[in-house]
Amino acid sequence: MLNKITNATYYLLNDDTKERPALGLVCGDDYSLVIDAGNSSKHAQDFIKQMKLMNVPPVKYVVITHGHWDHFLGMNEFEDAIVIVNHLTDQILHKWRSVSFHDDDLHKLVDAMMVSEKHLQIIADEIPKRESFNLQCPDLVFQESLKIDLGNKVCMLETITSTHTDDSTIVYVPDDNVLFLGDSAYGATTRSLFHYKQDHLIPMIEEIQKYDAKYFILGHESICDQEEMNVYWNELLSTNQVTTSPFMDEATNSFISTFKREPNQHETIFLQAFVNDQILRKR
Ligand SMILES: [Zn+2]
Repeated sequence: MLNKITNATYYLLNDDTKERPALGLVCGDDYSLVIDAGNSSKHAQDFIKQMKLMNVPPVKYVVITHGHWDHFLGMNEFEDAIVIVNHLTDQILHKWRSVSFHDDDLHKLVDAMMVSEKHLQIIADEIPKRESFNLQCPDLVFQESLKIDLGNKVCMLETITSTHTDDSTIVYVPDDNVLFLGDSAYGATTRSLFHYKQDHLIPMIEEIQKYDAKYFILGHESICDQEEMNVYWNELLSTNQVTTSPFMDEATNSFISTFKREPNQHETIFLQAFVNDQILRKR
């Protein structure tokens, strides 16, 4: 069984050991909508199996939140559904359709920086019949936003500013105060440096806070409530505020003198991530 958020919204827990993100489900009177297609055929099949135990309306739509492999490589399993992406994710998926998943070619994915070496084994293990695997085309491409009615249940799809990727889509279910964020609120790794884009941070938080959400589903955390999100935003905002140079000791000293305390474990990671962003921008 999937985890219940409200009477109409559910999620399958993320599994970090297999690099599986959380997957979402929204049910209307007539149809259901799935958020993210899973990192592989096996992940998608596990989700579909859990969903079938629940007797929900048929899945008419699958929304891919962004063009990272772990969120879309399972999409072929949703054969009868309309797969929806924004126009930027569509461009990324276009590149993946020319990829060969044959054992001899898999390493090319690492060379092209589409996946890390560590994730290659997961793809190899979780997609059987890879020799004949070809990623399907999305069925519906939208620009900025799209409203979908599942039968007395509206879902709002919006492309938002994000510190994770430039192609992030979120799904908001206003009746249920549920916001599926994908990975949009996370940082990113660029040239081996983990960073949060400083110039995207405040616009992103402002955009997300416009939604009247009580429950937030994050790709690799599953569910967070408002209080947990506020702690996260405050830690990001305070560490962002004091980071004005590409030097960790300067950022840490500035944090201590501004807030009269040492940064906690999360804040130390965020300080380093903003310092890394300064380093990447100076390169
Ligand atoms: Zn991602």
